Amino acid sequence: MAPRTPNAPAAPRYWARRPIGYAGQELDRGQVIQLAGAPNDERLIRLGYLQQVEPNDEPVTCAICGAEFIGGTMRTAHGDARHRARTRTPEEEEAAADREERMLDQVAPLYLENTRASAG
Ligand SMILES: [Zn+2]
Repeated sequence: MAPRTPNAPAAPRYWARRPIGYAGQELDRGQVIQLAGAPNDERLIRLGYLQQVEPNDEPVTCAICGAEFIGGTMRTAHGDARHRARTRTPEEEEAAADREERMLDQVAPLYLENTRASAG
């Protein structure tokens, strides 16, 4: 671990529980980011799109594009989706998208109970 200078505390980092377009980039599930300071940030965290990286999390880096991921499984899924030549038919793409949506609802359901903002 590199020592941190006292004057520059690390900003908390977040990871995408679900694929999401954020600050001009398409995040894959598990991708680690710094918050952009956008007005939407609080809502994305409250609804469960973004989750804070915990101190004992150990993100892994994609060897091809350098993006960081919260776990090796998610990095592999990212690699399969982004860095492998597309050979699937449109029907196979659609079936894969359906499978992914069901998987996401299981492993990373949104916090729909939080849809009403307290400030609303
Ligand atoms: Zn990559």
